[in-house]
Amino acid sequence: MALHKIAPVDLPVPRRLALRPRDARGYVVPWFVALVDGVYDFRIADEVKRRRAVREKRCWLCGERLGIFQAFVIGPMCAVNRTSSEPPSHLDCATYAVQVCPWLTRPHARRRDAGLPEETESPGGITIRRNPGVALIWLTRSYQLFRTYADGGGSVAGWLLRIGDPVSVKAYAEGRAATADELWQSIVSGYPLLADSARQEGNGAGQALRTHVHAALAELAGLQLLTGGHLRAIDAAMPPVAALEA
Ligand SMILES: [Zn+2]
Repeated sequence: MALHKIAPVDLPVPRRLALRPRDARGYVVPWFVALVDGVYDFRIADEVKRRRAVREKRCWLCGERLGIFQAFVIGPMCAVNRTSSEPPSHLDCATYAVQVCPWLTRPHARRRDAGLPEETESPGGITIRRNPGVALIWLTRSYQLFRTYADGGGSVAGWLLRIGDPVSVKAYAEGRAATADELWQSIVSGYPLLADSARQEGNGAGQALRTHVHAALAELAGLQLLTGGHLRAIDAAMPPVAALEA
């Protein structure tokens, strides 16, 4: 099924995003989208825009200035390690994106890597390229930039963002609010990838991952996005890295 055959969702476009150009399908072209040979390639984030977004505190989606609150659109695994390669957006821009963007609203959509320029590397560290099925809007007042280093294990040197404590978090799947079970399933299915990279990293990374998993899930339960039953099932559904090695 070709994406261009799907009409954009009939949803009012937020004020600032409405100023952005549209592509041939009618989709709003986010500010971060790279122009490749005169054509917008939604799969590629413009690295210059990424730097400008952080330096000038601009919204990743509309390119206008951000206020106090900053909305990160992240997969659940990014909530576990509190990192994002993508700078934050306005809340209204992010809320529109999670309801309309085909990549974020269609959990089974596969990313087409065909024809991507060779220099399309992960901006820093390991980026999980699977579609998580659930997108979180993590609203925060702060984030910090940190450096990443090439280690030969799929990581490239660059920088990522450490996301601050949440003011609120909302979970979306298929363009609507996600259920607690959908969020849980997305975390459980992404866990082996994080466990794998912790194993490769060694040096206590497995234990650090456990700490992050427990903290993140407790946080999401505190925000009513997961239940106490989910918290009790952590070790069964996501065994410690050491147990996976045994
Ligand atoms: Zn915006």
